[in-house]
Amino acid sequence: MLTQAGSSSEKSPQFTRRGGPLPRTPFSPARQPIARPSPNLLTVRPLNDSYDIAIIGAGAAGLMAAIAAGRTARAAGAASASTSIILLDGATTLGAKILVAGGGRCNVTHYAVDETAYAGSSRNAIKKVLRSYTVEQTVAFFEALGVQLKREETGKLFPTTDKARTVLYALLDAAKAAGVHLFNPWRVDTISRDDSGIFTITRATALDASPAAGPTTASSLRARAVILAPGGLSLPKSGSDGHGHTIARSLGHSITDRVFPSLVPLTIDRDFFTCALMGLAVPATLTVVSGTGKHLVSFTNSTLLTHFGLSGPGPLDISRYYTDAKRSDPAARLLMNFLPAFTTETLDAHLQKYTQPINRFLNQRPQALPDRLARALAEHAGVNPAQRPDQLPRELRRALVTTITALPMPITGDRGYTYAEVTAGGVPLSELHLATMQSRLCPGLYLIGEILDVDGRIGGFNFQWAWSSGHLAGESAARARATLGV
Ligand SMILES: Cc1cc2nc3c(=O)[nH]c(=O)nc-3n(C[C@H](O)[C@H](O)[C@H](O)COP(=O)(O)OP(=O)(O)OC[C@H]3O[C@@H](n4cnc5c(N)ncnc54)[C@H](O)[C@@H]3O)c2cc1C
Repeated sequence: MLTQAGSSSEKSPQFTRRGGPLPRTPFSPARQPIARPSPNLLTVRPLNDSYDIAIIGAGAAGLMAAIAAGRTARAAGAASASTSIILLDGATTLGAKILVAGGGRCNVTHYAVDETAYAGSSRNAIKKVLRSYTVEQTVAFFEALGVQLKREETGKLFPTTDKARTVLYALLDAAKAAGVHLFNPWRVDTISRDDSGIFTITRATALDASPAAGPTTASSLRARAVILAPGGLSLPKSGSDGHGHTIARSLGHSITDRVFPSLVPLTIDRDFFTCALMGLAVPATLTVVSGTGKHLVSFTNSTLLTHFGLSGPGPLDISRYYTDAKRSDPAARLLMNFLPAFTTETLDAHLQKYTQPINRFLNQRPQALPDRLARALAEHAGVNPAQRPDQLPRELRRALVTTITALPMPITGDRGYTYAEVTAGGVPLSELHLATMQSRLCPGLYLIGEILDVDGRIGGFNFQWAWSSGHLAGESAARARATLGV
């Protein structure tokens, strides 16, 4: 059940682990028992380094895949209940992105998710995956883990605790309950597949290659199926530094020609007047226009003026479309409208009849622009803010109107992957069977999450992509193991 923000259920007790308080570093290797081989493991190698399913990356997508795989295997009956599943992550501290998401509150999903909120691969392909595991199923999944979600005015869904760790700990506990063996730090260097379909996964730095040490320190593992969930390139210090792309390529996949930061703050020429207005946040419409003036895409949302450029939901959402357009058409531009209720034409018509000073118009409701912004806009247009617009020469009035409703922003670039929430580009969905997320090019390999050529808007859409694609792959991989009767 979904609760509205501010409802009484918001005060419901925080999620607690069965059997005791939450650990500070959940699922750490020290507490994790060495995985025991199950009867259906491979016999071609020492038993303790062979698994049925190996999942690479314990972010949102990998955790969901692990839980779905474990649960599906157990639900399939005795033969597959012992399916061994290992989840490997190179990070010392797990779940970095879940913990920082939504300002530490984790915007788990959005109330209304559909393919129109995404870019990259074809929307039809994205729709198929989203439909396989919907928002309703996601909400029910978290509720069953003890994580109640609340919907905020924007449509974003957050845990009622307002704490991202509620989400992370619940996922880690669910993975453990599903029988998944999780090892970290265990950074994957290479993955190869032999002619019999067995994957060999090697570790980037073998801490201790002694066979007796078990899989936490082994330098390689073998698996019958691999689910690749290493993320893209955003927030590289979290462990997602693009090495996953190298691995995907080595297994026969391609990466789109364009890979770039998405949901990222934009930088502008530091001399531009808006940089001096740092700290002001206003609702604005940002529009990408082609070199020929064609309107390509717009977003209306809060825009934060900063000393380096533009941040906040509006700029983050438009950033991927601006970067993409600029690469196809170097003359493409970003226009900012400080009064989204007006177009250039309607504002011009309005100001022709406005008999009070300009700054009064801009400051009063419903416009209510901060005074220093109103003055700066007028001054940038070469107009005295105390003047009456109806008395301005046409040319000056037009300059004022254009500055307010279609100000060309001198974008110099963006703040890069360190500040990007997600990666645009990756493995095209056309290279996967979308009913399962299994590779069309490398049987037994599944790809999910941000490594794929899919990026969503601000608002929980990227996590929903991780939940949907992760669930589909985990369930499919476990079913395939059960069907094969391994
Ligand atoms: C600051 C920030 C805030 C965000 N806020 C939101 C939000 O509120 N809502 C939303 O929907 N989305 C948000 N996002 C986006 C969201 O976090 C991602 O879309 C999502 O985490 C992608 O999940 P993933 O599992 O595919 O990849 P990741 O979360 O990147 O996880 C990949 C995992 O793989 C591991 N890994 C990588 N390479 C290897 C390797 N070679 N060997 C072993 N392990 C490896 C990494 O250590 C990492 O744990 C935010 C992102 C950032 C950066």
